[in-house]
Amino acid sequence: MMLKLSPLILALLYGFAVYQVSVWRTRRALDRKSTELAEPRLRAVCDKLARALELPRIKVHVYEIAPVNGLAAPDGRIFLTRGFLERYASGAVTAEEIASVVAHELGHVALGHSRRRMVDFSAQNALRTALAAVLSRIIPGFGGMIAAGLARLVAARISRVDEYEADAYASALMIKAGLGTAPQKSLLSKLDNLAGVGGATPAWLMSHPKTEARLKAIEANEAKWLKA
Ligand SMILES: [Zn+2]
Repeated sequence: MMLKLSPLILALLYGFAVYQVSVWRTRRALDRKSTELAEPRLRAVCDKLARALELPRIKVHVYEIAPVNGLAAPDGRIFLTRGFLERYASGAVTAEEIASVVAHELGHVALGHSRRRMVDFSAQNALRTALAAVLSRIIPGFGGMIAAGLARLVAARISRVDEYEADAYASALMIKAGLGTAPQKSLLSKLDNLAGVGGATPAWLMSHPKTEARLKAIEANEAKWLKA
């Protein structure tokens, strides 16, 4: 029994170590290449979100990279990329649309997604190792490949569920802050094009479900909340 379990435990430990290193690297990159968001109109909409949450303020950091993205670090800090702020400066996105991104990332933090990813990452490694061991016996040669594919599928599904939850949180917060869901929806519709302009931004597109499906989910939530 011990012998059968040990590859799993090793895989878990390995996954955890790799994750720790990547968290450390990300945090260092974020620290070195970020400043606090100070633009007055963006601060004003963030203050509206803060009031709705009964917080003194919401700190947002600007990450100095070109791709258009927002992210929640595992330590709970919220970042917008310089690329996103440039789209705001050029008038491609509004302050309220930027607020909807901050609200979405706040959702990831509030719902514990950024911290839970640590567990997911280790679990994914373990699952892949266990599946590979089983499948290589059934399908010699391809077992590892199939196992990796399956593990990726599971991870993608988990992250898609997170995105819908963060969207729902953002909708509720935007409504409470008096900003409404219109900016959230209009930004989603612009997102595919925005990401294209920034060049290599597959991360956003990969981790987020299709725009059409997200818009429908937001509208379904609104309909449900209006009835209640
Ligand atoms: Zn997200």
